[in-house]
Amino acid sequence: MFVLLLSLCSQVVAAGKETLQLEYVASNAKIVDVINNPSIHWQTTDDKVLNLGYSNLSYWVRTSLNIDEKEGPYLLEIAYPVLDQLDVYMLQEGNIFVHQQLGDKQPFIDRPFAHEHFIIPLPNGTHGKVALYIKVRSSSALQLPVVLWTNHDFLINDQVFRIVMGIYFGLMGIMAAYNVLLYFTIRESTLFYYVLYVICLALFSACLSGFAFRYLWPNSLWWNDQAILFFLISSVLTGTYFVMTLLEIGISDKWLYLGCRLILGLGLVLLFSSVFFNYAVMIKLTIAYAVSACIWGVFCRILRLAGKSRLATYYSIAWSSVLIGGIILALNKLDLISQTWFTENALLIGTAIEVACLSIAIGEKLNTEKNKRFQAQLTAFNEIQKVNSQLEKTIAIRTRALQEANDRLELASRTDALTGVANRRALDEALNSECSRAKRFEHALSVIMIDIDFFKQVNDTYGHEAGDDCLIHIGSILSNCATRAGDFVARYGGEEFCIVLAQTDGSQAFDLAEKIRMTCEASPLISKSYSIEMTLSAGLHTQTKPPYIGKELLASADQALYFAKRNGRNQVAISGEL
Ligand code: GH3
Ligand code: MG
Ligand code: MG
Repeated sequence: MFVLLLSLCSQVVAAGKETLQLEYVASNAKIVDVINNPSIHWQTTDDKVLNLGYSNLSYWVRTSLNIDEKEGPYLLEIAYPVLDQLDVYMLQEGNIFVHQQLGDKQPFIDRPFAHEHFIIPLPNGTHGKVALYIKVRSSSALQLPVVLWTNHDFLINDQVFRIVMGIYFGLMGIMAAYNVLLYFTIRESTLFYYVLYVICLALFSACLSGFAFRYLWPNSLWWNDQAILFFLISSVLTGTYFVMTLLEIGISDKWLYLGCRLILGLGLVLLFSSVFFNYAVMIKLTIAYAVSACIWGVFCRILRLAGKSRLATYYSIAWSSVLIGGIILALNKLDLISQTWFTENALLIGTAIEVACLSIAIGEKLNTEKNKRFQAQLTAFNEIQKVNSQLEKTIAIRTRALQEANDRLELASRTDALTGVANRRALDEALNSECSRAKRFEHALSVIMIDIDFFKQVNDTYGHEAGDDCLIHIGSILSNCATRAGDFVARYGGEEFCIVLAQTDGSQAFDLAEKIRMTCEASPLISKSYSIEMTLSAGLHTQTKPPYIGKELLASADQALYFAKRNGRNQVAISGEL
């Protein structure tokens, strides 16, 4: 849109009046000596706009105007706001009827027409041929774009000029304000330098276009000259800081870092010396410095942003546009190319494009960083997930191992180590729980107490080890015989065993006890060196109604066992009725 408006502006300028062709001569003479001196050798130029470059001489320029009173009133415009001293004379038939002193070496208030450019209204009623003489002296580039306007044309042209400048400074203002707010929110130093850079650039443009003198320091004549240098150098300084933070140029990038530091150092030297040295010298040095810094900015891009990232693209467009604009303006001021509307506005266009592109570049950088952070968080999250799941697996394995160890321990605590059948503790628990179950369902519960006959003799005859083998042998006979669900075999102690038989009446229990006794009698323990025959005595007690009390069951069965022993052993005795 900005470019569109600029092109619109250029059309209006083209449709308006052309700049006047001027003759010039280097001379410090007075007006009377210039107009009445036929020996002065006036020079002409092919350029549309007279451009005498940087010179510390005074020049006289002249042209003649043809004024048609009916078209008027008229305004004479010298559209270059940084000229130091101007003496404008208008003569008719040898008589001076206008003499106006102008230039930015006089306070703004003294201008006959309040405008950034130098404007001289022609007196009403001026008609016919008018000779125009201007004496000019300036430490800035000596350019004299002189245009004769009718009031009407001037107003139309000026409106567009103001709209365009308004958009330009509006854009700079919005960029600065938006990014300063963003800076206070996210504290990113790139934004801070960007804002400073935009402000310096906008103030530099304001100095060049005469707006700063008119609105910011209309009475500060010394500062008005210095300000151009000051803000141009400051733009380079802040721009360099900005590039360093945007491209993350640190001490590790040795040569890039040194280059940036050199630019910063030179800038400070120029800034300091601009106070003491001649403006004409300083402006040339500063322009050369600024153009070099721009080239360095482009160079940093080549070295720092490899590939075709979007940041690189925006950055390149930004610096290229300001570089091209700056070079065009500099070439014009150094009188290497002639002044046109485009050369005058090249830097404005360049900086506007640059500021917009750099803002996008910052956004791109922040976006990239955000993505990087997000990726890092994602990776960390995935790592944590992985570690967690590994931890869970390890915990599960350990828990299982612990559970198995507990189960083994539990089993061991309930098993007789020698025979592998249940131990006394397990017997007590099983008996209690079977008593409770029998109470609830009211079914029969039987207990058989078994004792090996004359076992002491076995030990005495074959030794304790063989005795142990005998106990294991008997244990396995019991386990093999009492195989129904609800049959519970345990070692009661020593060579005594006990069988709890749930839901088993006396006769069933008796049958089992007999079966065991006969099996034992018929199954001697045979080894290489011996064959041990053993018999059992068993006492049986059955309860068919409450109270089912474990201790009583055991005591009664034990009593029956005692009876079986006394009765001759190798038999089953019953306590109570079958
Ligand atoms: P009875 O027919 O009256 O039961 O005679 P007995 O010899 O079997 O009875 P007694 O109570 O006099 O002897 C039991 C023997 O059992 C004594 C002990 O040495 C033996 N004994 C007890 N526990 C073990 C054991 O774990 N291993 C071995 N080898 N012998 C055991
Ligand atoms: Mg015994
Ligand atoms: Mg015994």
